[in-house]
Amino acid sequence: MKSKLGQNFLIDKKVAEREVQHANVNRDDVVLEIGPGRGILTKLLAEKAGKVLAVEIDEKLIQLLKKFLPKNVELIHGDVLKVDFETLPRFNKVVSNLPFQISSPVTFKLLNYGFDLAVLVYQKEFADRLVAKPGDKNYSRLSVHVYYKADCKVLEVIPKTCFEPEPKVDSCMVKLIPRKNPPFHVWDEDLFLDVTRKLFIHRRKKIRTSLIKLFDIDIEDGILYMDRRVEELSPEEIGELSNVLYRKTKNIDMS
Ligand code: SAM
Repeated sequence: MKSKLGQNFLIDKKVAEREVQHANVNRDDVVLEIGPGRGILTKLLAEKAGKVLAVEIDEKLIQLLKKFLPKNVELIHGDVLKVDFETLPRFNKVVSNLPFQISSPVTFKLLNYGFDLAVLVYQKEFADRLVAKPGDKNYSRLSVHVYYKADCKVLEVIPKTCFEPEPKVDSCMVKLIPRKNPPFHVWDEDLFLDVTRKLFIHRRKKIRTSLIKLFDIDIEDGILYMDRRVEELSPEEIGELSNVLYRKTKNIDMS
């Protein structure tokens, strides 16, 4: 077992069955699985899907999987963060017990690529941050970024005893459906993401203080939550704030 690769293997087949059910996998689907491991989920996916693309970094596991997986599974040996998705057959669903150490980059890589639906298992702490709402202690830039890109729902908590070796913490099964359109309009998406990231570095500071510190901008406008903290602002309000900054930096008349 290689702990740095997040190799905690699922041993409860019922959990894998529920993942496949929640993803409503059928013969029209091309499903991406990240980290097939010993193949507990891969086998079930292959029974239902037209095709399964399984990306595994560990050569030893690839050799093991080759021996028993059916022909509709394409095994890809590599680091999912380096694999160019455009070189793979187009996949429309993602079902995976993710290696926890790459949860964040792999989620954004997937959301940037686009798909219909994903059922993903994350560590509980990460899942709590994914779905947190303004005012929650877990509300973070991750919550705002993911909300902007996808509809996200925790389906169930999976006890750590369902994995071998047993990890230190429980996990959560999460359903992600990318939004066809963003939930609110921002003039400059990169600026919105950057403003969110920077404001959450100083999550307890008043917005006015942060804006002066970070952007050297003092906005006099009373409607703009200047005396509140970013941890209390909804994603929509942060989007609005980024639009004000956009207009300010471009010298566009705000009246
Ligand atoms: N799907 C299996 C299961 O449920 O038992 C294994 C899940 S285990 C949590 C994560 C798997 O991801 C391991 O097989 C590990 O080798 C693989 N892995 C880790 N980092 C990876 C990466 N960057 N790219 C592809 N696979 C990776």
